[in-house]
Amino acid sequence: MVMLRGFLNIKTSLPPCHPGEVEWIRVEAELTDDVSPVFPYLNALMKGTIYDPQNQVLNFKLGGRGITIYPRKIVVTRLKDQKEAEEVLERLRKLINQTWERRETLQPSYKTRAKLTPMEIYKHLPKTNCGACGAATCLAFALKLVGEEVSIHNCAPLFTPAHKEAREKVLALLAEAGYKGQETDNGVPS
Ligand code: SF4
Repeated sequence: MVMLRGFLNIKTSLPPCHPGEVEWIRVEAELTDDVSPVFPYLNALMKGTIYDPQNQVLNFKLGGRGITIYPRKIVVTRLKDQKEAEEVLERLRKLINQTWERRETLQPSYKTRAKLTPMEIYKHLPKTNCGACGAATCLAFALKLVGEEVSIHNCAPLFTPAHKEAREKVLALLAEAGYKGQETDNGVPS
């Protein structure tokens, strides 16, 4: 049985302008069906999910886009244009339906995980405030990184042999949280 038939009232909007950031759009759509029963299975299947079972919200990243699913609503951020918005919505519809179809082969997970914080990243940065990444301080860089405004590769000092261990920790944290560039496309069929 198909869990999600489609989307209603698809609305696209531009986020507030942040100087220096690449422009992207946000799409919000109502769902034709309540998809909350699939959340524990998606939580088990996807990497970097943030699941709130009490409020029935599931959040994860897919190819650098931010996905938030509510029982009857979906929000996707960091999309290039309308065409990409439609493609990603269709991809998510398939993901929901395919996961639901194979639920008997999956162990549902109700685990919750906290969002990656700037401080977790900052702890492993060189902390020299050298400015090479374009941010005034390492903490400012960590904030931008968690907000997906910059790439970890902008911190050149971190990619020197002296910081090998710290670099591996940061890359592991980013991959675990599903950040683009440090992780594959979350194993989703296209
Ligand atoms: S390049 Fe790295 S070390 Fe230098 S300020 Fe930016 S984050 Fe800190």
